[in-house]
Amino acid sequence: MKIGAFVEIVNYAVVWERDGGTCGICGLPADPTLWELDHVVPLALGGLHEYANVQVSHRTCNRSKGAKAA
Ligand SMILES: [Zn+2]
Repeated sequence: MKIGAFVEIVNYAVVWERDGGTCGICGLPADPTLWELDHVVPLALGGLHEYANVQVSHRTCNRSKGAKAA
């Protein structure tokens, strides 16, 4: 059981290395200076800020996904 809404300290560099610099939404390479951290399950929908729920994403992909979810 998880207690409360504990979240990990997510290191962007670790996520970037894990995902190989590839956008998890469209599957294309992302720009190492312009990428954003995307929450696979949006925080608004109960997703957690933890490694298992984050991925590299293009800023544009992340924004368009957020618009659809909202
Ligand atoms: Zn993308």
